Amino acid sequence: MNIILFGPPAAGKGTQAKTLVENHGLVQLSTGDMLRAAVASGSELGERVKQIMDRGDLVSDDIVIALIEDRIESSPDAAGFIYDGFPRTVPQAEALDAALTKRDMGIDSVIRLKVDDAALMERIKTRFAEQGRKDDNPDSFKVRLDNYNEQTAPLLPYYAAQGKLAEVDGMRAIEDVSAQIADVLDMVTNAAAC
Ligand code: ADP
Repeated sequence: MNIILFGPPAAGKGTQAKTLVENHGLVQLSTGDMLRAAVASGSELGERVKQIMDRGDLVSDDIVIALIEDRIESSPDAAGFIYDGFPRTVPQAEALDAALTKRDMGIDSVIRLKVDDAALMERIKTRFAEQGRKDDNPDSFKVRLDNYNEQTAPLLPYYAAQGKLAEVDGMRAIEDVSAQIADVLDMVTNAAAC
């Protein structure tokens, strides 16, 4: 099973992905986590992406596509993958489709977490105060939100055209959002069994 968790920055994708790992045995592929690990390790890749990430811009498609392909390749026994923060551009989505097709797989569902901008701003203010993640500062967050609207939101019609888009209300409590996502996964599993 291949599931994309989709939504603006701070929509709760990472939180929900962790529940899916625990309850459904899926492997989480978070490009944000992979890139932050590269930065923390001081690797050459980390050096290249650090400033881009800090100001809230998108890392180049080539880099994130290579990271994802590597992980898919190195997890042949996974029950499935949950993509968190990827794809973020149409070329990334096309590359993911191609990588999965090559392995006789495909995206089963794109679960969109809907959260309004005012709530995102509130969440990020709290997270910045508590965790101090550099790209959660108000200027970088504005860039991230703009990038989401300009480069990532166009993926919604891409997946809607494939009949794969499911929407959940991301404004609700964490457990309620998890329950809505579990319902979507049940539907996907039942449809696959028919
Ligand atoms: P959030 O979902 O809260 O925006 P992420 O952890 O997914 O945070 O991403 C943090 C940063 O990592 C992004 O702002 C961007 O710089 C970089 N990044 C993560 N995933 C991608 C991607 N698929 N394409 C390009 N850049 C990415």
